[in-house]
Amino acid sequence: MAIIEAHDIRKSYGNLEVLHDVDLSVREGEILGLIGPSGSGKSTLLRILDLIEPPSGGELSVFGIDAVEERGRWLDLRRRMGMLFQRPIVFNASVYDNVAMGLRYRRARGADIDRKVKEALEAVGLSRYVRSRATDLSGGEQQRVALSRVLVTEPEILFLDEPTANLDPGSTATIEAIVTSLNREAGMTVLISTHDLMQGQRLAHRVGVMIEGTIAQTGPSREIFHEPTDLRIARFVGVQNIIPGRVVSRREGLTVAEARGKQILSATPPPGEEVEMVIRGEDVSLHRREPGFEEAENLFPATVTAIEPTAPFVNVTVHCGCDLVALVTARRAETLGLHDGMQVWVSIQAKAVHLIPRSGAG
Ligand code: ADP
Repeated sequence: MAIIEAHDIRKSYGNLEVLHDVDLSVREGEILGLIGPSGSGKSTLLRILDLIEPPSGGELSVFGIDAVEERGRWLDLRRRMGMLFQRPIVFNASVYDNVAMGLRYRRARGADIDRKVKEALEAVGLSRYVRSRATDLSGGEQQRVALSRVLVTEPEILFLDEPTANLDPGSTATIEAIVTSLNREAGMTVLISTHDLMQGQRLAHRVGVMIEGTIAQTGPSREIFHEPTDLRIARFVGVQNIIPGRVVSRREGLTVAEARGKQILSATPPPGEEVEMVIRGEDVSLHRREPGFEEAENLFPATVTAIEPTAPFVNVTVHCGCDLVALVTARRAETLGLHDGMQVWVSIQAKAVHLIPRSGAG
């Protein structure tokens, strides 16, 4: 069941259109990641879905209630949701009071407050700081205080807006583990925005990619990484090889595309004649000797033209008519004895060559 349903959402600030044509359906109990470059509209969309501000147009229903028509019910709806922001919001008071604040606003009973605050601090691993001054804690701990303030109110939907952007890796891992367990154990629906692709991949069941104010693609992160539907998404997800080519024929269920006279086989049905071949660097394998056809449908001799370490991997550029970048482990590069000018063989499976139409691809 959809817990949030947004259709054709628009948002403008003055003359600046920040969101347009946003369609999104969030299922109850899922973790949905919103990824996209900075400025693509992720925070704005979260603020709209969380009913912090209204859209300029479009349809929005939250918990099955029409949020555009029923502005009078916003406060009730908002009480069923919680938002954690990028910068931890803590007050110059004890950790206990910081967390209890959320409940006091809701006029909870004293005994309930005490129990819930202690449970929430336990859930984020901060029980021992209950009497500490919140502002004395580290950034990561402050963010956990802010998270427990949200959790005491037992939200049905948790919104996280770049919650770990300012945190060290240890605190990030802690916050991620808490979010995962809230979802698994309490079935909490989670929407998280992040510019960190890896975080989106680690946490989210499904990812929406925001590009220039709209959701350009939604799907499991594997699909977004390997089968981006347009060039902007391919660039954002860090595809190393985007090669313009043209489809020349079909052969044994595969598409034959040509780039600079070189024929490359792809398992993608032709999306048009003019295409971009999208190949992730880790799908380009290098060999010292010619491998057999069973290794991959695409096999080319090539020359190594550049080797760039990006620990623990190495970006290796090879020339084989066109330039290709292979991402290999540092260990594999050493085993192969790679060096500039070296002759190698390149293999790429047809299913690793994803084709997108070239026209209108930005
Ligand atoms: P992201 O979260 O993806 O970085 P934002 O939603 O924060 O993107 O911002 C998207 C665009 O909207 C940016 O160009 C930003 O400057 C603009 N924007 C966001 N909030 C406001 C606002 N309150 N007033 C004017 N412009 C805004």
